Amino acid sequence: MLNIGGVTPFTTIDYPGELAAVIFCQGCPWRCPYCHNPHLLAADGQGAVPWAEVLEFLCHRRGLLDGVVFSGGEPTMQAGLPAAVLAVRELGFKAGLHTAGPFPQRLLELLPHLDWIGMDLKAPFEEYERITAIPGSGEEARASAELLRRSGVPHRFRTTLDPFLLEGGRIESMQRMVATWGEELSVQNMKQPDAGKSGSQARQVTVQRATQQSSMLGTSGKAPDGSGKGEQVKGFEMKESGQPASGAASAPIPWLFMLGFALVVGLIG
Ligand code: SF4
Repeated sequence: MLNIGGVTPFTTIDYPGELAAVIFCQGCPWRCPYCHNPHLLAADGQGAVPWAEVLEFLCHRRGLLDGVVFSGGEPTMQAGLPAAVLAVRELGFKAGLHTAGPFPQRLLELLPHLDWIGMDLKAPFEEYERITAIPGSGEEARASAELLRRSGVPHRFRTTLDPFLLEGGRIESMQRMVATWGEELSVQNMKQPDAGKSGSQARQVTVQRATQQSSMLGTSGKAPDGSGKGEQVKGFEMKESGQPASGAASAPIPWLFMLGFALVVGLIG
């Protein structure tokens, strides 16, 4: 049903006021230079987690989580999203959406079934191509924002404070535009690639499908502290966001090089 790049099983920050899981959908038609999920951009990228396993995971979280947020990538790129939203609602969860608005028709189809939407505004609409590298993206975003404004669905407009927008009063221009809608633009700082475990990433854990090389976990249930963090769920492996699976393996290489260099210097001396 959905091509899924990863799942965060528990977050307090991606769905305002709710405890939620986040489903990261594969694919996005835009190419923002600051994108923090570039591995999700390819529409035909290999999904890390089968939809059936996500549903099974969510079945075990009924009564523990309030909602499920579809994020990405750009979730509205996938034709299977409306059915997926209905499926999580049938399980009793609220359905949230993170979108940048490149598919207003699909957003229109989804609106009656969504409980909350966070829409990213990239720039003043006439300057979208400067950020997304895609002609016409500003008109798509404008149409989606218009739908959202008039939908009655709880939502938040937000933007990323990046170097492309800092100069020329563009942020202020966007803030004035949103203010004319009777709303407020939420400005969030750009995530730093080397932010490590600080900020929101420190509170998020990505679920990836376990491989034969990694430990398969055969239990399910909440963590001892009841937070959901550190929990082990059948069929999934927990990894902290931004930590590549192979990252630890690269650490010994500089030490071996330094040891070899010291031995050579010692022999010559
Ligand atoms: S719209 Fe979002 S997911 Fe797509 S390229 Fe831009 S930042 Fe990345």
